[in-house]
Parts: sequence; C-alpha cells; structure tokens
Amino acid sequence: MERRRFLLFLAAGVAGTAVGRGTAGLVDPARAAVPTAAAAEPVVAPSPLPGVLPAPTGVVDRLPGEGSSLALTLDDGTSSEVVRSVCEFAEDSGVRLTLFPNGRYSSWEENGDRLQPLIDSGQVALGNHTWSHLDLTTLSKDEVAEEIGRNRDWIEDTFGVRTPFMRPPFGSHDARVDRISADLGHPTIVMWNGTLEDNRLLTPGELMAAAREWFAAQSVIVGHVNQPTITEVYDELVELIAERGLQTVTLADVWGTGLGGVRTTSGSAALT
Ligand SMILES: [Zn+2]
Repeated sequence: MERRRFLLFLAAGVAGTAVGRGTAGLVDPARAAVPTAAAAEPVVAPSPLPGVLPAPTGVVDRLPGEGSSLALTLDDGTSSEVVRSVCEFAEDSGVRLTLFPNGRYSSWEENGDRLQPLIDSGQVALGNHTWSHLDLTTLSKDEVAEEIGRNRDWIEDTFGVRTPFMRPPFGSHDARVDRISADLGHPTIVMWNGTLEDNRLLTPGELMAAAREWFAAQSVIVGHVNQPTITEVYDELVELIAERGLQTVTLADVWGTGLGGVRTTSGSAALT
C-alpha cells in the first residue's frame, strides 16, 4: 500500500517533469514552494549535468558554486536489507545517490544485481569508505594504504568503476591520510555539511527533522545504509526535496572528469 502510494506520487511528479525540463531546467520558486504532491517539482536531475568539473585535490564538504543541487551520500552498508531497499528506492524514484561502501560488508555483493544497472546508468556513483571502517588517523602508513587500497580494488573488481572520492570513516583524517589517499587514486576527500544523523537508530520523525534542518541547495548530506529508519521515510524525503526545489545529483555528476573519468566501463562491460 505504502509503495503503491509512493509510486503514484512519483507518477504525478514525473508527469510534471517534461514541462519543467522544457523551460530550460529553471526552477520556479513559486511552484517549488507549493507543498502538494501534485504540484511538486521533479526530483530527477538531468543527466549528465552540463559543466562537469574535474575532481578536486583536497577536502570538499559542499557542492561548488550556485545552484539547486543536493548530493545525498550514504555510507557503510551493514544491512543487506537496507541496501536492497535503497536500491529499490533509487529505481522507483530516479533519485541520484552516491554510495560509500565498506567492502567488508557482504550487503554490497548480495545486492550487486540491483546495484550494477544503477551504477552503469550513472544514477548511483561510488566512493571509497575504506575496507573495514577504522579510524585512519590511528593507523600506520601501510595500514592506511591497505584500508584504502583494498577497498579501491574491491570496488573496481566488483562494480567496474574507479572513483576519485574517498570519505574517511568517522570523518577522521589528516594531511598524511589525505596524501596516501591521493597516491592511491582518490584525491578528493569528501566530508559533508549536512546529515541525516542516522549513525544511530532514529525514529522516522527524528530522521525527517534532520533532513528538514540540513537539506539545502549545494549541500552534501551524509547518511547510512545501516539502520532501517531511512526505508520508512522515502515518500517524505522525496516530497521535501521537491518542496525545496532541489535536484539530486551524484558526486560524479558534479566532479566527473578527473583521473580520466569515474567510470572505467560503459554499459555492462566489466573490467577484468
Ligand atoms: Zn561510515
């Protein structure tokens, strides 16, 4: 029932998309402010976005320049059920996501058949969150390189992509970590300027309160594919994004041409 209502809502949103796109992608603030599903602006961002930038070297915590983009980034993947649900959410809604998996969790491979088409189409981008989610600043140089390098190789072997993005677990990093990350092919250290606050188990109301506090133009939002709460608020998240006139983007939509491009394969051609 819930899922059907959600799909109907999306159908209403997509019906408005063609009209919105036809007006050069401009968001009319008056329309965007109307908090009804029927009048909501579409969530789906044009793809690929114009003006894709090279991946920067250094730390980023927001999207560059002016605009109405929102980067939803989801980390870890301790729950296979939540990973699967988020894949279905992306399929159903068209919402663009960046995922930062830890390869130690089997959830990613268990849902590989759902994830791969989303990755191949560019709707989902990946970043490196290290293999086993340790505080990198407490590790030796070799251990840091192992944590990042093992996960980099796993991402490439599993999903056929390279990514310039690295998010240190707990957001804990320093100049040494950043340098090792860059040497391993991840020059862009991705922090955030907004959060779903779901690194602990929240009620749906608590998660949506965080979303209402932090969802804003050009923000990078951190969340997790661990606790089930996010799976209970998809409708509300989509409505909030629409009400605020935001369009979801992946980090690769914004910074996609560094290091010869994020995706090392096109279509379903896999790397060996
Ligand atoms: Zn994490």
